[in-house]
Amino acid sequence: MSSFAFDTLKVKAGYSPMEHKGAVSVPIYQTTSYELGDSYRADRLFAFEEDDPIYTRLSNPTVDVLERRVTALHAGAAGSIALASGMAAVTYALLNAAGKGGRILTTVRLYGGTVDSFEQIFSEYGIEIDIVENPDDANEFAEKMRPDTRAVFLETLTNPFCTIPDIEKIADIAHENGAALIVDNTAATPYLLNPFAFGADVVVYSATKALSGHGNVIAGIVVESGKFDYGAGKHPQFTKPLWFLRDAQNNKRNILEIFPDIPFTGRIRALHLNYLGAALSPFDAYLVLIGLETLSERVQKQVANARAVREYLEKSEHVAWLRHPESEGSPYGDLVKKYFPRGAGSLVSFGFLGTEEERRKFLASTEVFSYQANIGDARSLIINPAQTTHVELTERQCELVGLSEDTIRLSLGLEDPRDLVADLARAFEKAYGRSED
Ligand SMILES: *Cc1c(COP(=O)(O)O)cnc(C)c1O
Repeated sequence: MSSFAFDTLKVKAGYSPMEHKGAVSVPIYQTTSYELGDSYRADRLFAFEEDDPIYTRLSNPTVDVLERRVTALHAGAAGSIALASGMAAVTYALLNAAGKGGRILTTVRLYGGTVDSFEQIFSEYGIEIDIVENPDDANEFAEKMRPDTRAVFLETLTNPFCTIPDIEKIADIAHENGAALIVDNTAATPYLLNPFAFGADVVVYSATKALSGHGNVIAGIVVESGKFDYGAGKHPQFTKPLWFLRDAQNNKRNILEIFPDIPFTGRIRALHLNYLGAALSPFDAYLVLIGLETLSERVQKQVANARAVREYLEKSEHVAWLRHPESEGSPYGDLVKKYFPRGAGSLVSFGFLGTEEERRKFLASTEVFSYQANIGDARSLIINPAQTTHVELTERQCELVGLSEDTIRLSLGLEDPRDLVADLARAFEKAYGRSED
């Protein structure tokens, strides 16, 4: 399968109908547990010698197809683990990399919930988070590396301004310091960017967004290259012998012995998914699989719609500013060419020119754009991030992100671009009280 192109893999990879009574559409295995057969087989299953499912919290055949398919969509990936949400994917990946007493080096150009989880959760458990204030300067990553920095965490295409970190350079810096590079590739999707091609070790997604793409499911996934050496000394959590991983002769084993090809997602499955429990339901995995079938077609159209709307806004007298990596004069021009030749995503953010009252009217006046906190949906969405999705950010964090009160974020969907542009034009008129309807 792996020799096929992306568009073939997204509808076929990881599934063989003849192993499932010929069912063409992936069956939903709605079962909690699985017949163990005889006790000898049970011994093998519980010693990780056979990988058939035991209990759906740990694995499920429908979820398994999703994991295999997402792995296949990333050249250079060795394995994946699907989880109940994007937040579970981010949190489990960072907990797994940090272990006890580790540090994570990151930026504040992240999903609002991720930033707040550092303060509210990670700090409670002694995991230190260091912040690079200017992620456009890769040298700051090198300067902020500490002996116990176990991972660097980045978003590949940030929300709401679509800034782009120099992933390859930052991967080199992380690796020179023995740290893994974990990236959240949610806004980019594997169609626009395969971070493994530029040195990422782990890629996480909120599959809630464009990966599934229809605004009807909450899901997350962690993908790994299998190439990072977690046995080199910096990540003792991977080499610690665990009783629970013992073999049939009761010898304790460590994660690297049990999962030599997929140590990162293997450890998440054995520990975080097993004991913290954010399992993806088979039905939700099925919804993500259906969404994935049209990933390229949707993202292509969304990128084209984002361009059409951006061109309209760049000329609009109602726009105070518009920052986008594909705009003329953007400092990210070279990084777009290197990392996003197919387009830098489907988000467009701009400054609304007017009073707060007019901005509120604008948000209430769109009919095609719907006002909601999500991205990557088939429908076009509008929101005021400073007051909603990024409300957790402190003043200093907003300053670092460049997020101002007047920011409006659009996530482009699949509608006709003429209707989208006309909708914004009408909403501007209504906001300024120049239209009666
Ligand atoms: C939405 C989002 C998340 C959180 O995902 P959920 O599926 O909502 O839990 C994490 N990272 C990014 C970049 C997101 O957009």
